[in-house]
Amino acid sequence: MIQQTLVLIKPDGLKKSLTGNILTRLSETRLDIIAAKIVKVDKKLAEKHYCQLKDKPFFADLIKYICGEFHKKKVLAMVYYGEEAISKVRELAGLTNPEEADSVSIRGAYGRITTSGVFENVIHASANEEEAEREIKLWFEPDEVIADIYLTKIVKKETEKKVWTS
Ligand code: UDP
Ligand code: MG
Repeated sequence: MIQQTLVLIKPDGLKKSLTGNILTRLSETRLDIIAAKIVKVDKKLAEKHYCQLKDKPFFADLIKYICGEFHKKKVLAMVYYGEEAISKVRELAGLTNPEEADSVSIRGAYGRITTSGVFENVIHASANEEEAEREIKLWFEPDEVIADIYLTKIVKKETEKKVWTS
């Protein structure tokens, strides 16, 4: 089945200069990148992204982690597209706990558990189609994605926006 999935290189991945390495690993999947941008994650976006985990004891630290408080204040957000994209990327990423992840998986190779117990596992990948849709729509506007993956509509909006001065 053709699918799309949200991939984030988390702040620890960027801080450790793993971007090239992780992208090379992901290219083994032969999937297409159909969207990509660097994002400075604020608390609101972080809490929406991880809303399913809000009752977990590690939630506050997880939000600080994804906002970059322990590393660099940025993530690389991407959408990968193609045959069985979700399971292919999840498999390359490895298990959530980097110590349980296969040592050749991305998380197994580069992740760590902090002294406060947060799994710094360098990459996020959507777990299923429902999650992928929610997450892609949270992180990207339709015009930032070069394929037609979900239904869109045109709305007229009069909002302020920052532009270059010349
Ligand atoms: N996480 C953690 N401790 C846990 C479970 C999760 O620090 O016991 C962090 C970890 O960074 C993980 C993220 O919370 O990637 C989201 O958790 P989820 O259960 O959704 O795992 P994932 O889908 O990322 O494998
Ligand atoms: Mg998850």
